[in-house]
Amino acid sequence: MIIDFHTHVFPDKIAEKTILHLMEKGGIDSYGNGTLDSLINAMKASKTDKALVLPVCTKPSQFDSVNRFALELNKMDNIYSFGGIHPECENIKEKLKFIKSSGFRGIKLHPDYQEMYIEDERYYELIKTAVELDLYVTIHAGVDVAYPDDVHCPPKQSRKLLDRLYGKNKNVQPRIILAHLGGIDMYDDVEKYLVGQPVYFDLAVILNMAKKEQIERIIKNHGADKILYASDFPWSELKKNVEIMDSINISDEEKELIFHKNAEKILNI
Ligand SMILES: [Zn+2]
Repeated sequence: MIIDFHTHVFPDKIAEKTILHLMEKGGIDSYGNGTLDSLINAMKASKTDKALVLPVCTKPSQFDSVNRFALELNKMDNIYSFGGIHPECENIKEKLKFIKSSGFRGIKLHPDYQEMYIEDERYYELIKTAVELDLYVTIHAGVDVAYPDDVHCPPKQSRKLLDRLYGKNKNVQPRIILAHLGGIDMYDDVEKYLVGQPVYFDLAVILNMAKKEQIERIIKNHGADKILYASDFPWSELKKNVEIMDSINISDEEKELIFHKNAEKILNI
């Protein structure tokens, strides 16, 4: 069983335009046209059984449309979606309650595209409220190709967030999921500030980027029970991701946790 915990799809009407825009902005290639069909085809070709879609509100005004689409996805077999929210939305608490009562298990935040640093008080209030509502929070972490010199969620700040959120009581079920192994291109700082903390890391896009020894070391030291297999589709190729994950030198039990068991716990499936 393989669950991909970090993918992106867009409504058919805007998919092509959005993908082209993001390709241009980040100077990156795409492995699909951004539609649900392209994700489903890639899942079939890579024997991926289920996938989680992570929608991003880049403006507060997108809240309704983003969550309407996410809700449709969430009703499908084998496709799940988190909700989207922007830290500058009004009535954050009501909106988070709506997300919770709509059946979403979590939300996605993207500090680079939402143009706000993770240490901003508005993010803290939003995340604290989400955690109190038992929602999971996936946060884009580390270097984003579109903003290489201005990292909005580096490992050091993520650690401060966890310290503030949990205080001394770190014996908690993690609710924060830092994407991209805790921070794209900042893996030494991940080892310095985040390994061992109560937080999940997803493996989106980094299986192709980080050194294999470092991925293995982080998994071993952090604990496979807090790592989630993910691709960041369409920004990396699903089949290749599965192959790399298979070749990582950890036990079969650890692989089972990473490929699906941790995800099943979070998605309650
Ligand atoms: Zn992503």
